[in-house]
Amino acid sequence: MKVTEHIKQGGNSPMISFEILPPTKGKSINSIYESLDPLMEFKPAFINVTYHRSEQIFKQRGDGSFDRVDVRKRPGTVGICAAIMNHYKVDAVPHLICGGFSKDETENALIDLNFLGVKNVLVLRGDPPKGEQYFRPHPLGHNYAIDLVKQVVELNEGKYLEEEIVAGDKTDFCIGVAGYPEKHFESANPMLDIMHLKQKVDAGAEYITTQMFFDNSKYENFVKKCREADINVPIIPGLKPITSKRQLSRIPSVFHVDLPEELTESMMNAKTKVDEQQVGQEWLLHQSKELLKMGAPALHYYTLGKPNVIHNVMKEIM
Ligand code: FAD
Repeated sequence: MKVTEHIKQGGNSPMISFEILPPTKGKSINSIYESLDPLMEFKPAFINVTYHRSEQIFKQRGDGSFDRVDVRKRPGTVGICAAIMNHYKVDAVPHLICGGFSKDETENALIDLNFLGVKNVLVLRGDPPKGEQYFRPHPLGHNYAIDLVKQVVELNEGKYLEEEIVAGDKTDFCIGVAGYPEKHFESANPMLDIMHLKQKVDAGAEYITTQMFFDNSKYENFVKKCREADINVPIIPGLKPITSKRQLSRIPSVFHVDLPEELTESMMNAKTKVDEQQVGQEWLLHQSKELLKMGAPALHYYTLGKPNVIHNVMKEIM
């Protein structure tokens, strides 16, 4: 089922979804099941699977010179989404990125996803590879997420890139895109960022999932600004548990988001690792309850290796 259909259908309990990271190569699908198993009792409407582009490393040759090679540390999303859908009978949402892909490679991935019955894609530009400062598109790929949105829309209309395909079947993907309550870090200002978001929606995106935020007023204000800009699709808040003092500096630098003083103060006062986790868990619970009261269409949790914290929060809100 499509994400938008899940949202329309609603239900008595809050609609939730989880996001997982593919394990590093060499690990089996069981590592994913181990982190999802404890959460499945809360019946997520869908599960997102992130995509991680390959990294470029230098390998020394016998003559002492170096070759630049692409190393993919994590498997792609197609197989993982199929496994999740088959194992749990739940919808999977693969993240599809522009970075590192030609348009033809993207079309092939979409064809595979369509064969597998995947109904949703979260369309993103992707970040620059590790060690690079700026995003550089694949020479035969897309510059921005909006260009990838347009490619999926064309496939939904039965228009394939491959010229031999004349009367190709129409796919039926529901397209989600990313939004940033605290502005995308490359954007000159929030107004411009929302203008680019509107372009993605006008091009065919049917819902927005937000970057994580730790202050609900940021989400509230973002939704207000989006509505003023005539962006009327559902805006699903993305929530991440912060569970250690170390994350106080890591999260802002990696994700370009602020942490409220109240949260950082409580975290700094935590005496043990258990206390640190408790602080983060309580904050996440408070955020979740408040967002539901604010009428958020669903809550999307970046579970990323912390299933126990999410589990404890779920027990309180479901
Ligand atoms: P875009 O929408 O293309 O925007 C990128 C920047 O360009 C913004 O500053 C925007 O304002 C600007 N812009 C957009 N259109 C134009 C235009 N026409 N002209 C000029 N400027 C423009 N990354 C991964 O690699 N893998 C993942 O699985 C992944 N999952 C994510 C999930 C969520 C919910 C979120 C919020 C982010 C995720 N990311 C992921 C990170 C994301 O790829 C980065 O934040 C990336 O830098 C921007 O992606 P985007 O899709 O928002 O890009």
